[in-house]
Amino acid sequence: MELWYTEQHTKDVKFSIKVNKQLACVKSYYQRIDVFETNEFGRILTLDGFLMVTEKDEFIYHEMITHVPMAVNPKIKNVLVIGAGDGGTVRELTRYDTIENIDMVEIDKLVVEVCKEHLPSLACKLDDERVHLFFEDGLKFVRTKKEEYDLIIVDSTDPFGPGEGLFTREFYGNCFNALKADGILVNQHESPYYKDDARAMQRAHKQIKSVFPKSFVYQVHIPTYPSGHWLFGFASKKQDPVSDLDAEHWNSLGIKTKYYNTDLHKGCFAVPNYVKELLEENE
Ligand code: SAM
Repeated sequence: MELWYTEQHTKDVKFSIKVNKQLACVKSYYQRIDVFETNEFGRILTLDGFLMVTEKDEFIYHEMITHVPMAVNPKIKNVLVIGAGDGGTVRELTRYDTIENIDMVEIDKLVVEVCKEHLPSLACKLDDERVHLFFEDGLKFVRTKKEEYDLIIVDSTDPFGPGEGLFTREFYGNCFNALKADGILVNQHESPYYKDDARAMQRAHKQIKSVFPKSFVYQVHIPTYPSGHWLFGFASKKQDPVSDLDAEHWNSLGIKTKYYNTDLHKGCFAVPNYVKELLEENE
């Protein structure tokens, strides 16, 4: 008998990965958490049946959500990470000795526990002494913060269920207030390709643009996400992600990456025409 994990990417499109065995299946207050072992992608984490990370392609997502802002502002010291329970984003951030503090706000403690047990290659730095874990709603956490952080990374689930509030104008406005004068917000920005994902992407862009003086999107290729074409948002009070890139400094750090490099950094902000049109439709 064969076991397959299947995700419905649209009403008419499904994506399947053959599963060797199920390693975890737990139900938290917020969601169902599963970990499967697969031949092609290694271990994979799903929440409520939606694919979050795979061991094989997580490096793309986590390198691109962290190294892009870090290469624009090498002075980043105090970071807030929202969501990100698998630990991959924190793992990349801890590679910078210059970062002094990382507050990570994950609504679901069980996601962290499951990932520590079954996905140690991602969760391996959650015990770093600079990391402070808060198990609460990121939407509420950020409300009380004023000009504290140099960087906020929103590594959330999609805009439904517990992640819904992390795509609202109220949330982005509170992130703006929580950032210092040269602060940067990077967020998981959905996909431009399939209709429903593209609508979510347009809504997020519209809200961010109404709050931040500078807002951009950049693209990555993630084989296991719907369509493989995914976007991150880069919003800031001052910086332009391409003209303010300090490539020489970032390259001098000697951080070994598998996807990110400073040439790709410049290129990933050049998006295809259909994406430009979707973004402009909003403006
Ligand atoms: N890379 C993944 C993706 O985009 O598919 C996201 C990874 S991470 C596992 C997302 C995390 O965000 C989940 O663990 C979820 O519990 C958390 N989350 C969702 N809503 C949240 C909220 N309002 N506050 C804090 N964390 C939240």
